[in-house]
Amino acid sequence: MTKPVVAIVGRPNVGKSTIFNRIAGERISIVEDIPGVTRDRIYSSAEWLTHEFNLIDTGGIDIGDEPFLEQIRQQAEIAIDEADVIIFLTSGREGVTSADETVAKILYKTKKPVVLGVNKIDNPEMRDQLYDFYALGFGEPFPVSGSHGIGLGDLLDEVAKHFPKDEDAEYDENTIKFSFIGRPNVGKSSLVNAILGEERVIVSDIEGTTRDAVDSMYTYEDQDYVIIDTAGIRKKGKVYESTEKYSVLRALRAIERSDVVCVVLNGEEGIREQDKKIAGYAHEAGRAVIIVVNKWDAVEKDEKTMKVFEQTIREHFLFLSYAPIVFLSAKTKKRVFSLLPVIQRVSENHAMRVQSSILNDIISDAVAMNPTPTDNGRRLRIYYTTQVAVKPPTFVVFVNEPELMHFSYQRFLENRIRDSFDFEGTPIRIIPRHRK
Ligand code: GDP
Ligand code: GDP
Repeated sequence: MTKPVVAIVGRPNVGKSTIFNRIAGERISIVEDIPGVTRDRIYSSAEWLTHEFNLIDTGGIDIGDEPFLEQIRQQAEIAIDEADVIIFLTSGREGVTSADETVAKILYKTKKPVVLGVNKIDNPEMRDQLYDFYALGFGEPFPVSGSHGIGLGDLLDEVAKHFPKDEDAEYDENTIKFSFIGRPNVGKSSLVNAILGEERVIVSDIEGTTRDAVDSMYTYEDQDYVIIDTAGIRKKGKVYESTEKYSVLRALRAIERSDVVCVVLNGEEGIREQDKKIAGYAHEAGRAVIIVVNKWDAVEKDEKTMKVFEQTIREHFLFLSYAPIVFLSAKTKKRVFSLLPVIQRVSENHAMRVQSSILNDIISDAVAMNPTPTDNGRRLRIYYTTQVAVKPPTFVVFVNEPELMHFSYQRFLENRIRDSFDFEGTPIRIIPRHRK
């Protein structure tokens, strides 16, 4: 199920990041814990009632040295490109400003739903300020106070009304959805072109409706695939597209819609922090992951080069120890087609279900080999383990006290499961749950 994307836009100081943090809450993500990855959050998963969605604070995307108005204009365009629903945020303290009108003019161009929020309405008396905001032309303004946490429920109710139906359901269950993600210039578009250019591949574009997606379907050796468009792959040229933060947003969008994500690295340049951040999101989202080292043609090599690069990747991407690594060249097409069977394999692993009886034997053997941890004289007891979901494979372990399941022991169990089943390319999740 693809989560809808909600973007907050508005001129500086209306309270976008305050509202973002309120809605996103204190979710701690694995990505933020990767050393060296900066903590400037502009993107978070969020929940409202039964809805799960992704939230973007476009105010956090700096667009180089552009003048102020140009920045907010481009941020609004990013919202239009990326979001399913846009929250246009203004401030009741300052009233409608000309910068608000600039944002409004850009948002008039989209057919996407826009919900108008008026922030800093900290008390009921201030509601009189709201009437001016009808003039912006987005219907009823929703009063909120980011600092006091007032009104967000009504605003989010309105936002949730506009969430699209899940469009990806239109693809057949057996079709593998995958994407190439990565920093600008690693060669994502070249890879798509290298695959689609091949004769044995049948191409047909499906025009997305509200999602603006241009997906490419093709069949290779009897397997149907859909390449999920990233990087605005076939419509490049906007100023903000070369900014790193935007490339992360694009990646997130593609990750959401994919089963398998190919994290593309530039073999010529080596690994950058941004690569880890992008890969971290794919891991966190529970997608199958392949690390693709592109531009391998441009690397001066001897017989050790590949091994050394592989080790460097393993050191930098500890959280992706399960991901296969493929070295290739979009330019010469060398090994480009060997990637497809790897995608197919990890996709199968991602959707694999294992038998409970075998699973429980493995866990019993594991416990016999390495006794469960104790704390203050209490010992973790494992009663029963069962697979509750696929994509990614998710296991619930029924225990006496979930707190006793230390991270290291969980990792040990994960490794035992991995030793017994082929989960190459897919993250697996283990959830300890209390049972009396
Ligand atoms: P952004 O530039 O749009 O992301 O705005 P910020 O979230 O950084 O907020 C700008 C300023 O407005 C900060 O000083 C916030 O503390 C303040 N602010 C945000 N929300 C509210 C609110 O609901 N009421 C009041 N009075 N101030 C707020
Ligand atoms: P994207 O921004 O990730 O989509 O990257 P592009 O596909 O636009 O490629 C960026 C640049 O890298 C272009 O100049 C490509 O010609 C070049 N490039 C892409 N793949 C390869 C490759 O395998 N080898 C070499 N030498 N250059 C490549």
